[in-house]
Amino acid sequence: MDEQIEQIASWAAAAGSGVAFTGAGISTESGIPDFRGPGGFWERNDASKFTIQNYVRDPEHRKERWRMALEGRSFLGKNKAGEDIKPNAGHVALARLEALGCIRGVITQNVDGLHVEAGGETVVELHGNARRIGCLSCRESWPSADVLKRVAEGEEDPDCPYCGGILKSTTISFGQQLPEDAVEKAHVLSATADFFLVVGSSLVVYPAAAFPGVAKKAGARLAIVNREPTDQDYLADAVIHADAGPTLSRVVERVEQLRPS
Ligand code: NAD
Repeated sequence: MDEQIEQIASWAAAAGSGVAFTGAGISTESGIPDFRGPGGFWERNDASKFTIQNYVRDPEHRKERWRMALEGRSFLGKNKAGEDIKPNAGHVALARLEALGCIRGVITQNVDGLHVEAGGETVVELHGNARRIGCLSCRESWPSADVLKRVAEGEEDPDCPYCGGILKSTTISFGQQLPEDAVEKAHVLSATADFFLVVGSSLVVYPAAAFPGVAKKAGARLAIVNREPTDQDYLADAVIHADAGPTLSRVVERVEQLRPS
């Protein structure tokens, strides 16, 4: 592993247009479970139900989703233990790589807002953000806590106070289009990257999982840091199967020696 850390640090230090790409795995050390890991969401739930079509069509489904949101607490910035969700060493390390100029930004599949909270300047959120809830008709939006307060006070399926439309977290559900501007930015960053660092993603959710391939095709060095093997390890120039926080902290420590700010 020492050798791979050295390699990744040297690519990061030399990079002129590096990019990081993250998934749920970077946030597990902040107490937010991933979806495919042990105890993850898809072990407990049927993925095929969670479509935008079901959400729009079926009030009973929406009521279930609001109950889950209230119980899950992630919309409120709390984990299941009721503790505040905070960025961890992995998020901090990526913000530091950006500040050092080794990466131009982070493309993330996460909806938790932790890259921005850690100080990330350019954060492309492909799957939206759980901290806001919006109206599917008029597009007005509110902090999630404001809407969940209405649910906690007894509204089973709260509607838009302005137009009566359906409210939904501003995250992307199955069958829902990814935000065009985010996809465009992610594509430009990936297609012009000279170093591309994947952290904490199983790399199976498309179209997001296509970006490492875009970067690799454009000539970037591709590195993957993930607890388990991913479907795209074969594409990578370096792979580390380990926890993100401690691994990225070591990478940054080495980069700081190689590329002092
Ligand atoms: P995933 O659940 O499919 O995969 C996560 C990967 O991270 C796994 O391969 C796991 O081995 C690895 N991992 C777990 N903890 C790790 C750690 N500490 N260090 C390194 N690797 C670790 O997640 P995905 O690929 O992001 O895709 C799932 C979808 O779920 C995404 O669309 C995302 O929007 C959503 N999601 C987001 C959050 C969040 O915002 N924090 C949480 C759960 C799911």
